[in-house]
Amino acid sequence: MPESVDSRRLRITNDAGTAGTLIGFRCNECSVTVFGPATFCQSCTSFEVEPVDLGGSGTLYSYTIVRIPPAGWPGHVPYILGQVELPSGPQVLAEVIDCAHSDLSIGMPVELTIQVVAPEEGGTEKLVYKWRPAAA
Ligand SMILES: [Zn+2]
Repeated sequence: MPESVDSRRLRITNDAGTAGTLIGFRCNECSVTVFGPATFCQSCTSFEVEPVDLGGSGTLYSYTIVRIPPAGWPGHVPYILGQVELPSGPQVLAEVIDCAHSDLSIGMPVELTIQVVAPEEGGTEKLVYKWRPAAA
């Protein structure tokens, strides 16, 4: 059974490992929401933060076509690295798939998609999150 590549950022929500939600924290003092782990609010330094589901949809805020990948990159090259803004404010960087470069546009709606990544030697399969154009 593959597991989330980072359980502090992605929670798998079905047994098949095909659906999930991004997770983060919201500050009860100033309402700032962040993606990923937090023990205090980086905006107002309050410790009154609580975990929240951030869902799996957003809009494309910015993107880059990556032609020279980081060492060990398992995917295709070139690939699209998208910075996506969630409705609650935080931005999430991940690969954008199923989208021709010519179809990319800032502000387009995107949705989370879960992919299985083959294990490194001796490891287990990991589930990673990527973005794809939202279904019309
Ligand atoms: Zn705060």
